[in-house]
Amino acid sequence: MTKDRRAKGEIRARMAATGEPYTVARRRLAGSPDDRQQPVVLAQRLHTDLVAALRRSGWPVEAERRPDFGEYHSYPGPAWLAVGRSDQFSSLVDDEDPDDELQVDLTHPPQVRVTVPQLETADGFQVQATLEGDRPVEELVAVVAGLLAEGRATALLAASDDAACLICGDHYPSEHLLAPAEGDRLAVCPACVFDGDLVRAGCTAALTGQLDRLCATDLAAPAGWTAVAALLATAAGPGLGKRLEAEWRRYSVMTLPSWWWSRPGDIWIWLPPASSRPHALQRLGPGARLEAVVQAFDAAHPDARQRVRDQLREVRAEAGAEAGPDGFVEAIWPAVLAYVVAFTTQAVERPAHRAPLEHVVYSFETFADHLGQLDSSMDHTDIELTLDVGLEVVAAALGLGRTGAGDTRPWGSS
Ligand SMILES: [Zn+2]
Repeated sequence: MTKDRRAKGEIRARMAATGEPYTVARRRLAGSPDDRQQPVVLAQRLHTDLVAALRRSGWPVEAERRPDFGEYHSYPGPAWLAVGRSDQFSSLVDDEDPDDELQVDLTHPPQVRVTVPQLETADGFQVQATLEGDRPVEELVAVVAGLLAEGRATALLAASDDAACLICGDHYPSEHLLAPAEGDRLAVCPACVFDGDLVRAGCTAALTGQLDRLCATDLAAPAGWTAVAALLATAAGPGLGKRLEAEWRRYSVMTLPSWWWSRPGDIWIWLPPASSRPHALQRLGPGARLEAVVQAFDAAHPDARQRVRDQLREVRAEAGAEAGPDGFVEAIWPAVLAYVVAFTTQAVERPAHRAPLEHVVYSFETFADHLGQLDSSMDHTDIELTLDVGLEVVAAALGLGRTGAGDTRPWGSS
C-alpha cells in the first residue's frame, strides 16, 4: 500500500510539473532514466506558453482556447500559428485533440506551423514553415520573428510600383493605394489619405474596409497604413468594430472587422529593421502592438508628452487661441507614436520616395470628414495641432529630427 501510494504521489508530482496526462507520467517514471528526463510536450501547453511568450515580447495575439482540426490556432500580428500533431493524424474531420494519446504518440513533440498572411490570396501564402515544438518558447518566438522579417523583405522586393499616388505622385503597387471616398477611384498613398486636396468627402466605411483587407492579405503593405488605422481607431468612440461591421454590411461586405479596430493598443505596427531602429525600440521584434511601442517610447523618453503639452500651449498662445482640453495629448498620443514609427519604417523600406513625414505634417485637413462617422468626441483642430507638434517632438526624441543623423530620414535631409 505504502509503495503504491508513493508511486502515485510521484506520478501526480510529475503530472503537475510537466502537464503530462496520468498514463504518460506513469510510463515515463517506469522507463529508463533517459525516458524520465524527457518530459512530454503537450500541444495545449506549448500553445499557451507560446502565446504568453509572444505577448511578453510585444506581439498582439488573438488565441483560440480549443483545438480545431487537431491544432490550436493563434494570430500574432500578421501571422497565423497552428500548434498540433496534424502530421500524426491520418484524417481530420472536426475538433480532434492533438494531445489525445489514443490517437497520437505523445512522445513525438508537437509542431508549430507558421503561415503569413492570415488570409490566402491569389498569390498564396508568403511564409509557410513548420517548426519542431521541443524548443524553448523564447527560441520559437525568435524564429517566428525572423521568418516574418525575411518574408516581408522578400515581399517588398517582389512588389512592383506600377501606379502613382494621385496627390503626391510617389510610385506604389496599385493594390497598395486606397480610395478614401465612397464610389471614387481616386487612389492615394497613406501619407496623403487625409490631404486637403482630396475633393470628395472621406468615407470611413470604405477606407476601413480596404485597410483591413490590405493588412490581412498583403505582407508588403506600406507600413504607413497601420498609422492611418491607428489614428482612425484612436479618435473613434468606443465599440468601433461593431459599428464598422454594420456599416460594411450596408456595402455587402460580410467579413468581420479585425478585433483591433475596437482595441487600438493591439494594432500591429511594423518597426524599422534593427540596423536603423531607434534605441528605444530595440527590444521589440519586426513589429509590435501599438501599446508596446508606446510603453517602450515612454520608458525611454518620459518627458516627451510634457514637451508636446508645453509647445501646444505656446502655439495656441501665439495664435491667440484658447488652451486645448485637458488630457487631449494623452488621448491622441498612441496615434502620434504610430505615425512617427510606422512612417519611419516606410522611409527605410522605400528610400526612393519623398521623406514621408515631411508631407504627412499639414496633411490632416480631411480627417475632419471621418470624425462624425467614427462617433468621435474629439475636435478636429485639436487633433491636427497635436499631431503636427507631436510628430516633431517624438521624431526628435528618437533621433529622427530634421537635423538628425543616420540612414533614417523620415523628414528628408533638409
Ligand atoms: Zn501620396
